[in-house]
Amino acid sequence: MRDASYDILFEPVQIGPVQTRNRFYQVPHCTGMGHRYPRSEAAHRGIKAEGGWGVVSTQETEIHPSSDLTPANEARLWDAKDIPALKLVTEAVHRHGSLAAIQLAHNGLHVANRYTRHTPFAPSAAVVDSDDPVQARAMDKADIKAFRRWHVDAAKRAKQAGFDIIYVYAGHDMTLLQHFLLERHNQRTDEYGGSFENRLRLFREVLADTKEAVGDSCAVAVRLAVDELLGAEGLRHDVEAHDIITALADEPDMWDVNLSDWSNDSQTSRFAKEGYQEDYTRFVKSVTRKPVVGVGRYTSPDTMVRLVKQGHLDLIGAARPSIADPFLPNKINEGRVDDIRECIGCNICVSGDNTSVPMRCTQNPTTAEEWRRGWHPEVFTKSVKPEQHLVVGGGPAGLEAALVLAKAGQEVIIAEASPEWGGRVSLESRLPGLAEWARVRDWRLGQLQSMPNVEMYLESHLTADDILEYGIANVALATGATWRSDGTGRAHRRPLGFLADAPVLTPDDVMHGKLAGREGPIVVFDDDRFYMASVVAEVAAAQGNKVTFVTPAAVVAPWSDHTLEQGRIQQRLIRLGVEIVPLHNLAGYAERQLGVECVYSGALRKLACDTLVSVTSRSPNEALWQALKARESAWAAAGIENVKTLGDCHAPGLIAAAIYAGHAYGRAAMGEGRVLREDRMLAD
Ligand code: ADP
Ligand code: SF4
Repeated sequence: MRDASYDILFEPVQIGPVQTRNRFYQVPHCTGMGHRYPRSEAAHRGIKAEGGWGVVSTQETEIHPSSDLTPANEARLWDAKDIPALKLVTEAVHRHGSLAAIQLAHNGLHVANRYTRHTPFAPSAAVVDSDDPVQARAMDKADIKAFRRWHVDAAKRAKQAGFDIIYVYAGHDMTLLQHFLLERHNQRTDEYGGSFENRLRLFREVLADTKEAVGDSCAVAVRLAVDELLGAEGLRHDVEAHDIITALADEPDMWDVNLSDWSNDSQTSRFAKEGYQEDYTRFVKSVTRKPVVGVGRYTSPDTMVRLVKQGHLDLIGAARPSIADPFLPNKINEGRVDDIRECIGCNICVSGDNTSVPMRCTQNPTTAEEWRRGWHPEVFTKSVKPEQHLVVGGGPAGLEAALVLAKAGQEVIIAEASPEWGGRVSLESRLPGLAEWARVRDWRLGQLQSMPNVEMYLESHLTADDILEYGIANVALATGATWRSDGTGRAHRRPLGFLADAPVLTPDDVMHGKLAGREGPIVVFDDDRFYMASVVAEVAAAQGNKVTFVTPAAVVAPWSDHTLEQGRIQQRLIRLGVEIVPLHNLAGYAERQLGVECVYSGALRKLACDTLVSVTSRSPNEALWQALKARESAWAAAGIENVKTLGDCHAPGLIAAAIYAGHAYGRAAMGEGRVLREDRMLAD
């Protein structure tokens, strides 16, 4: 039974001519699937509707070949032949009584049109915003007229595909309609440029066109960036955005408001906490009578109730919380708030879209696997005859494997060597800014601890002898990995002999407190290229040491560009006074001096270094596996049938990969072996 204080979240809301059954609104978000994986896309959106989201939106949908985001996998509605793929989405969403929304987009100078070879369009002649050596041309009146027609045509096709809510989109510094609004992109001198009213003209026209074309039966929503966090260089919520919403107040059927660009809209938990957009979006309801949706990585139903009661939002927008737990609304409705699998704000999902592949989620391994593998986030094949399973290691891989097996009705024993659960997640969540990552552990523990078919043992370091003695049929080894101290990584493929005599610490040492109290200059060498070295540098800087960050890469943490964090990470290190030495490898160590050499010229440089924290790569902890393998001939007599390695002890990777490995192990044990491929549907 649902807690009555949450009733308000389940009230219907009228949005123009359509009504949503509750206030849970999955705002448009990319999935890395789009038009290239239409069945996967549809199944993913359908699961959200099944989980209780009253509105489920597509990602941005290209309306014309001059808005070609290739190789990104966005939705596409260039012509009528794109309708069937999107119909799969609307049918999947309608099947569960939810409304389907589509975010129409023309991406202006945000695209290089790599596939269609079309010349990009912009308000004024300008280079595109990617690194492509391509310029956009200033649209003339005929281009503007054509664009208005494409938008109308796309809106009509969207209606034909069955969408209930159709967006006019001006956000993320990614769309033509926003480019026209912004002075830095729009330097026109005709009636579409110059004054505020002129810059607003195209937006106003397209909104009116869309309402006229489809507004009889579809709601027409606006998605508007209300602040770009650029000060006077960009849109500000208390200046232009305020004026835009005031000027158009009740013209759209709904306002969907957020921050721009994407790195501001989807900030990670390392840099922003739940509700981080509130100060920017709070004003919107005071200038419109139409429903307002906003986002802020909301996972707490109490916060959601507050937002509605305080008149801040009418609809609780979510992208990442709906990915991490597609069943969040149903869980609130059923009085199962503790079962909500909360997003940790890591943006691994975002990295999928940014690398043009179906996204993965750290918390929800079934995401984007609903069609390909047939995985349902809440449904597990139940075993007819429960078997016994031993899981060794209580990190993310071990906890997830144990949980899936337990949900399938198996008998599970999980043993962890240390005094706490969570493995690397527990250690890493104590690093600066990463506290929310502990949710990976806490949600799984919360589930496991209430299950009668699971036995959990801490401080239980198991050996091969122990495992043979127990004689449990199925054994999963999830013993993790250890950071290397010998420099081996991408730049240095073999151990660096000179590090043997150097004062080297690894991230494991830092997480176990061994950096604390170290005197003198610290050098962090990063060849891992994601988050770890930068958080280690933060720890070192917080101690007051002189910190130098050396990396063979051109920037700090280049892979974090995919999680939208690179700029913020580099900025933070600069603010903390960390000296950054890019494009350098390690070359030697002697007399408290670290030698580093330029990756291009080989020019040597010496850095004062009393401690080197080497962040390069990890070795799988496979000693237990090797010991068991050496005694394989004894398995059968002991009653052991299967032994498998999972997660980081199999091959070190992301936490998301360890969770996925644990999940896949559990599913496979239950005979869930389906793997479909959309790219060869004709052959299959
Ligand atoms: P993963 O990401 O693959 O889950 P982690 O390193 O996070 O890997 O977790 C591995 C866990 O396994 C650690 O908590 C570690 O203490 C535990 N572990 C390692 N070896 C053993 C062992 N022989 N017996 C029990 N637990 C072990
Ligand atoms: Fe949240 Fe991370 Fe999952 Fe994205 S990948 S939904 S940020 S937990």
